[in-house]
Amino acid sequence: MPEGPSIVILHDVLLPFKGKKVISASGYAGIDFSRLEGQKIIDLKTWGKHTLICFKNFTVRIHLMMFGSYTINEGKKYNPKLSLHFVKDEVNFYLCQVAILDEPLSKLYDWAADVMGDKWSVPIAKRKLKDKAGEMICDVLLDQKIFSGVGNIIKNEVLFRTRIHPDSITNKLPPSRITEILEEVRKYAFEFLKWKRAGTLSKHWEAYEQKVCPRCDILLHKKKTGKGKRQSYFCNNCQILYK
Ligand SMILES: [Zn+2]
Repeated sequence: MPEGPSIVILHDVLLPFKGKKVISASGYAGIDFSRLEGQKIIDLKTWGKHTLICFKNFTVRIHLMMFGSYTINEGKKYNPKLSLHFVKDEVNFYLCQVAILDEPLSKLYDWAADVMGDKWSVPIAKRKLKDKAGEMICDVLLDQKIFSGVGNIIKNEVLFRTRIHPDSITNKLPPSRITEILEEVRKYAFEFLKWKRAGTLSKHWEAYEQKVCPRCDILLHKKKTGKGKRQSYFCNNCQILYK
């Protein structure tokens, strides 16, 4: 699943279309395509895994989900869910969720939750974690209301870097360790972005999809953890379990 940094890359790809008028729109998304026709894109935003294409009175939200993708000026073997046609160019989105949002984005989105956004706030995230006291940290890190943009890669790498076991219970973590996680999430997300742009992301994984702990040189554990049963990679020797 594309995580927050990959959506920042999509945002950059779409940026040249800001200020351009949509001539026509098509696809099999269940939206009223005619609303987009003749409308100018006035802004492009992201919130975690959401891509937001802003028009004067509404926004088109794209969520790439597990298998979504996009192309510029080329097709694929299968039909796009949404195609935006401009005077010269065409943008296609595949296997994604598409919705039109009529409410102002300020009412719909908590910008402080976007780990890559300018308004990301460690103190606000810390307050939200108080409501998740009894939950495992591996589940909490994937909660988009607190960590918008975090997916399974970021979760695993952040827990490895901070030496915290994924099964740890959130309120058993000392406050200083919570702060470490909150700071590392944003730091790693931007490193992810840099490496993804360079095409070297997977070379930098220390835990995700890895077999051996680079710190201890022993086998990593691979287990579906938490209520969400998402795959975790961790070292029982150097990642501390707070229970
Ligand atoms: Zn280790």
